[in-house]
Amino acid sequence: MDMLIGGKHITSDDFEEVKNPYDGEVIDTVPIAHRQTADLAITEANKAKESLQEMSAFKVSNKLYGVCEKLKDNREDFAELLTKEVGKPINESLVELDRSIETLKLAAEEAKRIYGESVPLDAGLNGKGFFAFTQRVPLGVVAAITPFNYPLNLTIHKIAPAIACKNTVIIKPPTEAPLAVMKFAEILNEEFPDGVVNTVTGYGSEVGNYLVESPNIDKISFTGSVTTGLMISQKAGMKKVTLELGGNDPLIVLKDADIDKAVKGVINGAFLNAGQVCMGVKRIIVEDEIVGEFTEKLVKETEKLIMGNPLDKETTLGTLISEKAAIQVEETINNAVNSGAKILTGGNRNGAFYEATVIDNVTSDMDLVVSETFGPVAPIIHVNSLDEAIGVANDTEYGLQAGVFTSDYASAMRCAQEIEAGTVFVNKQSTFRTDNMPFGGFKNSGVGKEGIKYAVNEMTKTKLIGLNLR
Ligand code: NAP
Repeated sequence: MDMLIGGKHITSDDFEEVKNPYDGEVIDTVPIAHRQTADLAITEANKAKESLQEMSAFKVSNKLYGVCEKLKDNREDFAELLTKEVGKPINESLVELDRSIETLKLAAEEAKRIYGESVPLDAGLNGKGFFAFTQRVPLGVVAAITPFNYPLNLTIHKIAPAIACKNTVIIKPPTEAPLAVMKFAEILNEEFPDGVVNTVTGYGSEVGNYLVESPNIDKISFTGSVTTGLMISQKAGMKKVTLELGGNDPLIVLKDADIDKAVKGVINGAFLNAGQVCMGVKRIIVEDEIVGEFTEKLVKETEKLIMGNPLDKETTLGTLISEKAAIQVEETINNAVNSGAKILTGGNRNGAFYEATVIDNVTSDMDLVVSETFGPVAPIIHVNSLDEAIGVANDTEYGLQAGVFTSDYASAMRCAQEIEAGTVFVNKQSTFRTDNMPFGGFKNSGVGKEGIKYAVNEMTKTKLIGLNLR
C-alpha cells in the first residue's frame, strides 16, 4: 500500500513486508520512506493549512460525520485487516472499529464546540475600558506517531481532534501494523482537501525521529513506549508534545471484594489483546485472607479462554504482534519462575502465541512486574493490609490507570486518593476507557491528556484579542 502525501500516492525504493503473526502470510508491503519523503509530507501539510482553516466549523463537523459513515460501511473489512496485521481476535477488532466510529463521532461533535471566553481586563490594573476575549486557534501541523496494539483507534484519537480544530496531520503508523491506518487515511482524503491528511511509513528511528526534530511541525502527539517517549521529549524542541506511554496498572483485590467480579476484571484486564494493552492489568495485588479462593477461581476462568486462529469467532486469545515479542514474554516469565514465582496455569509458547498464564508468589522486585510486560500474564502479589496494597501499587515508575475491588467505601476512597495514576476505578479493572474521558497517565506514563475534548485543548493555542474602547 502506498503512502498518501498531498493527495498523491507516493512510494519508495525500499519496502517492508507486513506479515500476519498467526501464519506468517505476507498481507502487503509498505514503502520505507526516508527524510526527503518526510520533508515532502511536511511541505504538503503546511500548504494545506489554509484550505482547512478557511472551512467553517459546520463544514469540518459534517465532513467528519461523513468519514464516520464511510468507516461504518466498511466496518467488517477494516476489522479483518486489523486482525490479520495485529493477530487480535476478530471480535476484539470489531470492538476497536466500534470505538473508532465513536471516537470520530465525538470529534465531529467537538468541532462545533471550540469556544473562547470573555476576559474582564478591567479586573487588572489599567484594564478599564477594554473589551477582551480569547479564541482557541489551531497549532498548524500535528504529527501523530502511533503504536501497533490499537493502531486504528489510537490514531483516530489524534487525527480526529486535530482536524476538528483545523490542524493538518502527518501520520507515522507503526511499521508492524500500518495497513488499517493507511486505508483509513484514504477515506479521510476523500472528504478533506489534499494535504490535510498525509501518511509517512518508515522506521520510527529515522522518519519518526525526523518529524520529531522538524521545526516545521507544531505538535507531536505520540503513543508508545516510555523509552521512545523520553527520547521524543528530549528532541522535540519548542513544539507541543503529548505523550501517551506505557503502564504497569495494578488491580487491588481487598478481602471484602466481590471475588467473582474481580476475577472477571482480571480475565478482561490481563488477557485482552493477548495482554498488549497499555492500561492492561499487569499486577494483581491480593489480600492474604482471600488469595486461595481468588486464584482458584482465576485459574478456572483462565483455562476457559480459547487460543486459536484470530479470524475464528470462537477465539478469545490471539497471537502477540510477533514471535520475537512472544519470546520476550517467555523469557521474562521464566526469569520470574527462576526467582521463586509459581505458574498456576499456562506458561507455554508456540510461535507468536503465548498461553494465558496465571503466576503466583510474585514479588515486587521481579522484572515481570518492575517493567511493563506486554503479554497475556496475570502476576499475583500477596499483601496483608490496605496500606501494603497501596504501597505496592505505587511502587512503580508508571501511573496510567488502576483498579480496586472492595465493598468498603472508606477503603475505596483511600485507594482513589492515594494511588498515583491518571485514573482510579472502583470495582472495575484499569482496562476500561470511554473515548470521551480524559485519558493519560501520571509519572512516566505520560504527559497531557487525550479523549476528544481534552485532545482539542492540547491541539489549540489561546489567543487574546483586546479592543481598547476608550
Ligand atoms: P514504540 O516502540 O515506542 O513505537 C511506537 C511508535 O513510535 C511506532 O510508530 C514507532 O515506529 C515509533 N518510533 C520508534 N522509535 C522512534 C523514534 N526514535 N522517534 C519517533 N518515533 C519512533 O511502542 P510499541 O511497541 O509500538 O507500542 C507499545 C507501547 O505503547 C507499550 O509501552 C504500551 O503501553 C504503549 N501504549 C500506550 C498507550 C497509551 O495511551 N498510554 C496506548 C497504547 C500503547 P516503528 O514501528 O517504525 O518502530
